[in-house]
Amino acid sequence: MPEGDTVWRSAHHLHEALAGRVLTSTEFRVPKFATVELAGETVQEVVSRGKHLLVRTESHSVHSHLRMEGSWHLYRPETMRRGRIRRPAHTIRAILRTDEWIAVGFDLGIVEVLPLAAEDTAVGHLGPDPLDPDFDRDLALANLGNEPDVPVFVALLDQRKVAGFGNEYANELCYLARLDPRTPAGDAPLGPILDRGVKLIRANRDRVERTFTGTTRPGQMTWVFGREHRPCRRCGTTIREISLGRTPTQERRVYWCPTCQPAFGGRDR
Ligand SMILES: [Zn+2]
Repeated sequence: MPEGDTVWRSAHHLHEALAGRVLTSTEFRVPKFATVELAGETVQEVVSRGKHLLVRTESHSVHSHLRMEGSWHLYRPETMRRGRIRRPAHTIRAILRTDEWIAVGFDLGIVEVLPLAAEDTAVGHLGPDPLDPDFDRDLALANLGNEPDVPVFVALLDQRKVAGFGNEYANELCYLARLDPRTPAGDAPLGPILDRGVKLIRANRDRVERTFTGTTRPGQMTWVFGREHRPCRRCGTTIREISLGRTPTQERRVYWCPTCQPAFGGRDR
């Protein structure tokens, strides 16, 4: 699942391939932007902001969000001509062509073309991003704690507080903190949790496979995420799973070990 680390890596690869190159043609296969054409504009840079990806030209920003299944791939023009793409053509949402490389966005949850000056309408709400070299830890920590009654799991997922942690990070960070994910944020050791999250997402940024356990062996990369009904790697207790979110539409799957992550204060809530 794309989280901040995956999106950073995608942005990095796109930047290496496209920055400084002139767009020869573009396609946006979403109704609102179907007639937009950026040919002639030069890609200045490609950056990530949390889980959002921005391809900037002199005057526009192509904003995309990968959601659950999205991805950007790079192809050589001859590969595209032969139709050798790695995903079904009907899932293509955006194509950015240059003479050397063609970037194809598949299954993008969001794709929109904004005037550069309006980029903040898409990403201005985001909290500090741990993968930003200017990451503001103090602000991130204050944001995480500014709603003390919200479950810590929900706070970690809130992109307005910290941008980049998704469902895997929120679950694994609660496990690593030995904390029930439903613990109110105000009762959680937010500083150490944040610091561990920052360290993990920075380490995972440069890996092909995201891992929380230190191993990249298949099926062994998480402590609790996706491991419902299986034994805890540490104590053998069966991993539990429920849904949790600020609202029903924001609910995400929560996984935890009831032994390693007891209810806050030992109370059964
Ligand atoms: Zn356990």
